[in-house]
Amino acid sequence: MTALSVARSCGPCNICCTLPSISELSKPAHTPCDRLAPAGGCGSYSERPQTCQKYACLWLRGLFLDSDRPDLIGAIFEYWEDAEAEQVLRARLAKRVTDRALILIAAFSMRLPVAILEETG
Ligand code: SF4
Ligand code: SF4
Repeated sequence: MTALSVARSCGPCNICCTLPSISELSKPAHTPCDRLAPAGGCGSYSERPQTCQKYACLWLRGLFLDSDRPDLIGAIFEYWEDAEAEQVLRARLAKRVTDRALILIAAFSMRLPVAILEETG
């Protein structure tokens, strides 16, 4: 996916085009979007759905180390508001989540609630 206000570029990462389910595309979780271009990146950039247009993970927004890129650590982090409008860290875990991602989750959990999504749908 590609995002609006960002501090980095996605580079070779496209894990958010694979890991989450995307209802607008009827894309199940852990399945590459069929619009992914063979060389990487979105193959229908100008027609990508709103979900994709609005998305920027926290790494892309400038948090964490460069080496914590989501495809490298097996986790995507986002801020989210729960039902009580409280900010939580939402972590979407790949099947091969790394120890580094778990360390980041543990560190964040000392500061705010963490919701872990192990997407199955
Ligand atoms: S439409 Fe493009 S940006 Fe959205 S998930 Fe598919 S490949 Fe990624
Ligand atoms: S997970 Fe983040 S860095 Fe990776 S493609 Fe999506 S927005 Fe870009």
